[in-house]
Amino acid sequence: MVGAQDDGEHVSDEVVAPGDDLQYCPRCGAPLIGRLLPTEDRPRLVCDRGHILYVNPKLIVGVIPERQGQLLLLRRGIEPRYGFWTYPGGYMEIDESVEECAVREAEEETGVKVEIRGLVGVYSRPGPHGPGIVSIVFRGEVAEPDPNPGREALEVRWFEAEDIPWDDLAYDTTRWALRDWMDETGER
Ligand SMILES: [Zn+2]
Repeated sequence: MVGAQDDGEHVSDEVVAPGDDLQYCPRCGAPLIGRLLPTEDRPRLVCDRGHILYVNPKLIVGVIPERQGQLLLLRRGIEPRYGFWTYPGGYMEIDESVEECAVREAEEETGVKVEIRGLVGVYSRPGPHGPGIVSIVFRGEVAEPDPNPGREALEVRWFEAEDIPWDDLAYDTTRWALRDWMDETGER
């Protein structure tokens, strides 16, 4: 909450946007205050020098590794959603393309090399009740089938499409993307 610990000069107790717990301007270090500026159509986080901190969704890139009709899922070994299944994916780094991110995440989390084979879909979970993310999910062809779980995975295994653990998936986006993957690949 903006100004929750400050001296009472905050404008509003309303939730401004996901990330409005940010308290200091990243450019100058002054306190941030939620304000409705004449040039903006919603409250923004502003410091007293006029720097605006825009709070935007974060980009997550995932990839569904596939081989001979099977797909590779991992069971998360970290919070959130510890113990639930998903495909490899994670936050984009600032110096990589979406395709590079997908390849990197697959290798880090499952130990397989994927060749990107097109888009499964783009999904969003808007704030403020979620984290405010956009998830881009690719198909990834795997030639070498032996996975090697990374440090963030409890286990990694190949699934037939009919064995996808629908009740134990990590996120809504996981379910949406796997449904679209099934539609596209014709796996039932
Ligand atoms: Zn500032």
